Amino acid sequence: GVELVASTKGRAIAEIMQLVEAGVRTIGENRVQEARQKYDSLGGRAALHMIGHLQRNKVRAALPIFAMIHSVDSLRLAEEIECAGRELARTVPVLLEVNVSGEGNKYGISPDDLPSLVERLAGMNAMRVDGLMTMAPLTAGVSGARPVFRTLRTLAESIALMKIPGVCMRHLSMGMSHDFETAIEEGATMVRVGTALFSQ
Ligand SMILES: *Cc1c(COP(=O)(O)O)cnc(C)c1O
Repeated sequence: GVELVASTKGRAIAEIMQLVEAGVRTIGENRVQEARQKYDSLGGRAALHMIGHLQRNKVRAALPIFAMIHSVDSLRLAEEIECAGRELARTVPVLLEVNVSGEGNKYGISPDDLPSLVERLAGMNAMRVDGLMTMAPLTAGVSGARPVFRTLRTLAESIALMKIPGVCMRHLSMGMSHDFETAIEEGATMVRVGTALFSQ
């Protein structure tokens, strides 16, 4: 029951359609403009998920094409999504991106800030928090990734225990080409895999 999100940044639509032919149903993209070009070619045969950093001024363009946003990393971005979602009369499923490892050069909410942020988001109607997302440090290898994934799962469990109305921790988006097996062992419900799908 783990959903494969095929990460296709920089990939041509012909390559993506091969994945769709092979049964991939969810495509992850990092940039709104690139995704918009691919959206029409997909013709609804696969859903698009936003997995890269989303700038607030791109939210209005993003909402019509993405079925889910994995990378909500600030209150201000959440407020923008709520506002645009209302205008479109849409409820937008999102995941909150957590910077578990605390690397300074990385987007994401710090684990300490997460509970209070989730409480502030609970009142929103056009945005629905469906879980958490993280990226393990690229240099840490599988042994370094496991504690990061485990911490994300623990955070989701503690938020679930808060029983905040409208907040459901059903998804953990974690794991990439080199560490998705570890992520699944630690409870991932979605893995975002790129390189491993395309390399020979
Ligand atoms: C590119 C990317 C991936 C996929 O990485 P691979 O190592 O190619 O599997 C996953 N998540 C995010 C956010 C990405 O930008």
